[in-house]
Amino acid sequence: MQRSERTRSGRGTEAQHGLSARDLRETLDEIGICTWSLNPATGRVAISKNCHHVLGVPARCLPDHDAFQAVVHPEDRAARAAAVRWALEHGGRYSIEYRVRQADGELRWVRSHGRAEIGGGARMTRFRGIVYRIDEHRQAEARLQRLQADLIHVSRLSAMGEMASALAHELNQPLGAISNYAAACDHFLAEPGNAQIDAARTALAAAAKQSQRAGAIIRRLRDFVTRGETDRRLESVAGLIDDACDLALVGAREQGVEARIDPGPPGIRVLADRVQIQQVLVNLIRNACEALRDSARRHLAIVAAAHGDGFVCISVSDSGPGIAEAVAETLFLPFVTTKSTGMGVGLSVSRSIVLAHGGTFTVGSSALGGATFRFTLPAAED
Ligand code: ADP
Repeated sequence: MQRSERTRSGRGTEAQHGLSARDLRETLDEIGICTWSLNPATGRVAISKNCHHVLGVPARCLPDHDAFQAVVHPEDRAARAAAVRWALEHGGRYSIEYRVRQADGELRWVRSHGRAEIGGGARMTRFRGIVYRIDEHRQAEARLQRLQADLIHVSRLSAMGEMASALAHELNQPLGAISNYAAACDHFLAEPGNAQIDAARTALAAAAKQSQRAGAIIRRLRDFVTRGETDRRLESVAGLIDDACDLALVGAREQGVEARIDPGPPGIRVLADRVQIQQVLVNLIRNACEALRDSARRHLAIVAAAHGDGFVCISVSDSGPGIAEAVAETLFLPFVTTKSTGMGVGLSVSRSIVLAHGGTFTVGSSALGGATFRFTLPAAED
């Protein structure tokens, strides 16, 4: 008897599996999964009673699709409507995340899986799915993102701390020059003839230029240490390299480092967070300068070129000793360092910044004799 029932319906009965529809419903209720179905012809929604616990909205407030849309966060409505529309038109599955607004204004993150089956003659026969809360998952994700942003920021502050004395020295130069020009003006204006006034004007113009130079250094510093949200824009590769070199090469010339900078053909641009990519370049350039400290030949090359496959490749190469064997395998892991005062986070942070931009980050040996760090970023089309 049981055998013939199975043959007729093509599947076993619920009783055979030991679970009734009620058992299933109760199990789903207990684990916090809300089930729903939508009648495409009438737009009416039937939703399980536990939707009050899952969505924070009673089932009676969700009689149809429009009422459902009304409790979805306004920023998420269009994406939800598009997913539902697509399923209704084509059949098949979708999975989306959105926020539900409750009566007290509190928001809940939920994930919704829907499935539409189109019957004969393009008629929709079934459209149903499930919804469950994902607040914890979302909160954990947000916490992780905050931690990553903190780490990136701390690593930037640490790089800045290491550069502080060289930067103070760099700032002293325009300030010293301004003081000299001011003394010269004082001298010219002590006996003001036409020639002296002209000379004082020239000295004042030169002082103004030096103050702009000091201002530019301070502006770059401030941008670099300000936390700021991730902000990706179209950036010129040459501009990114120039800015990073202005910070990272401070004091390098005095150390006898010869830097070759080739920003590639003019006009190559990338979609990037300027401060973060600057941070990657500053880390790599400063590491290279440190590696050159004990070398007789101190060459450094910073080169950018189009990669051909829609990417731009930027490399920083040096003529130092290359990567120490002891750290070669674990180079990109955090807290790996060969320096007595190193934090060992520069490379791991740089790599995660580049990967988050959709690029690659690699290390190899350099034609100059030391190490070459290369990273790619997706090229931006105008
Ligand atoms: P830190 O500079 O604080 O040590 P990083 O993550 O920037 O942290 O670098 C990790 C290690 O990688 C360095 O301690 C050094 O041993 C090695 N390294 C990085 N860049 C170079 C380079 N250009 N040449 C040789 N070794 C390098």
